[in-house]
Amino acid sequence: MKNKNDEELRKIIDEGRTAEQELNLRLYEEGEQVKERVKGVFLGDANAVVFEDNELVWAATSRCQCSAGLAYPKNIGPNGAWYCSSVLTSGDPDEVHSEPKPFMYYEIKSEKQPSAKGATTRPILVTVG
Ligand SMILES: [Zn+2]
Repeated sequence: MKNKNDEELRKIIDEGRTAEQELNLRLYEEGEQVKERVKGVFLGDANAVVFEDNELVWAATSRCQCSAGLAYPKNIGPNGAWYCSSVLTSGDPDEVHSEPKPFMYYEIKSEKQPSAKGATTRPILVTVG
């Protein structure tokens, strides 16, 4: 950088800002698409694609009132929420479920946090036969 003049350095800074804005916009749009998908699943939209287990981050211990673990889709962004994993993965909202819990109002420990010490509400894979 020492061999660059002031003008060249300003140009690099501007390009960095532009790149940051572009990345933030992409992440925002991705989060909005994920939220639309969640909405479709919860509303029972026939075209909605339910989530696979590996698309979700699971709560360490917090559960929905139906007893399924809470979870949220990866890439939902900072304004997302925790949802009933049973609805996210099966799309069957007929049972009584807890309301979504927005990140901004609820501190729910995810299975990814070191202090969870391996705890997860992921369903146990049962192999039959
Ligand atoms: Zn539930």
